[in-house]
Amino acid sequence: MSLPFVQLKPGKDIPVRGGHPWIFSNALTEESNYQHIEPGKLVQVKDAKGIAIATGYWNANTSIRVRILSLDPKETIDERFFLERFQKLDTWKCSHLPKGTTGYRLVHAEADGLPGLIVDRYADVFVFQIHTYGMDRLRDMVINGLKMAFEPSAIVERSDVDVRRVEGLTDEPVKVHFGTVDAPVAFQEYGITFSADVMQGQKTGFFLDQREARHRVGLMSKGKRVLNLFGYTGGFSLHAAMNGATFVTTVDSSRPALEMAQSQFKQNGLDAEDEKKYQFMDADVFELMADQAPFGPYEVIVCDPPALAKSERHLEQATKAYIELNTSCFEQLSEGGVLVTSSCSGRITPEDFRSIIKIAAGRAGKDVRLLDWLQQPVDHAERLSFPEGRYLKTAIVEVTGRVPLAKPNANR
Ligand code: SAH
Repeated sequence: MSLPFVQLKPGKDIPVRGGHPWIFSNALTEESNYQHIEPGKLVQVKDAKGIAIATGYWNANTSIRVRILSLDPKETIDERFFLERFQKLDTWKCSHLPKGTTGYRLVHAEADGLPGLIVDRYADVFVFQIHTYGMDRLRDMVINGLKMAFEPSAIVERSDVDVRRVEGLTDEPVKVHFGTVDAPVAFQEYGITFSADVMQGQKTGFFLDQREARHRVGLMSKGKRVLNLFGYTGGFSLHAAMNGATFVTTVDSSRPALEMAQSQFKQNGLDAEDEKKYQFMDADVFELMADQAPFGPYEVIVCDPPALAKSERHLEQATKAYIELNTSCFEQLSEGGVLVTSSCSGRITPEDFRSIIKIAAGRAGKDVRLLDWLQQPVDHAERLSFPEGRYLKTAIVEVTGRVPLAKPNANR
């Protein structure tokens, strides 16, 4: 079956051949020729000489006109294509994942060569999310590819996400396409049992991308008092508690998430009701920390807020919020204490985030050292040809002493 084609201006094939998965409108010749192509249709991409170099899918509703699926223009996009991609990704990711880990991201969209598609795996339950028109049209192939590549007990779709609107799509209700789900679904992370509410939880049910940071917190928690801010279902808290933390406070504004945190504690044999050891607080972190709540000092604080800079115009406000938040974290830390602080906003660069942390420490009057810097784990790995996919940064910072209090903005 021959596909409609789009043609690139001279030189615009170079990033495509180098693995960049997006083609913007200004890279194409004679745009008017393509307006008849329906959104989401598969297209062949030709270079300026007319040589086919890739296959992708089209959408004139967005400035990203084409997203690339294959750099082999002869490759047919069908169930087999998805089957092979899934198998290859699974083999590669499993070879890098830590032992005792059965929850991971099988497909990380553009970074894994399948634009607009996320697939998270929780043991034998597969949860996918479709963000783009083109992938929406390939839904049946995705489902069949998963069935053929694995032996799923269930395949669930969580395309209840706003980003679809940019593409001209509507939110999809949560749907079980195959099998049955007894939500929450149990899976393992570094040998600890977790559960993901794949039907109603945030994202696909769990924030798989913080696995390595959670593990690191586990390693440093023995005998420590740990505060987990934006704790969701208690991922960091459980790693801390299972590794000997003496006291763990989990704060989140979602009651269902906190209830699940408590049930996960119980699932792992911990007494979640023991208030001398474990505290679960339904609160707004910003308000709580602004009130200088007298619950510190802690020896380990985790601060993992949702993306505060959702768009460019939120950047300044978000930067201020990150500074205030991290300042209050440093204030609640004892000397020798460690802050594990994250930003999952792609618009905040690693350099921005270092500067945010430096300013916050100064404002809290703390001298700090950067012990380590984590980024996306292997199952969310950054594809170097696609820097737009970089989003997660986690700094592990130790308070090594005091400095005279900085005035606001003084050391910018
Ligand atoms: N650290 C978690 C993931 C955090 S996601 C993990 O490892 O699983 C961000 C969390 O912040 C969500 O659970 C959300 O409910 C919570 N949240 C968002 N805004 C909040 C606020 N203002 N105060 C408290 N919690 C908030």
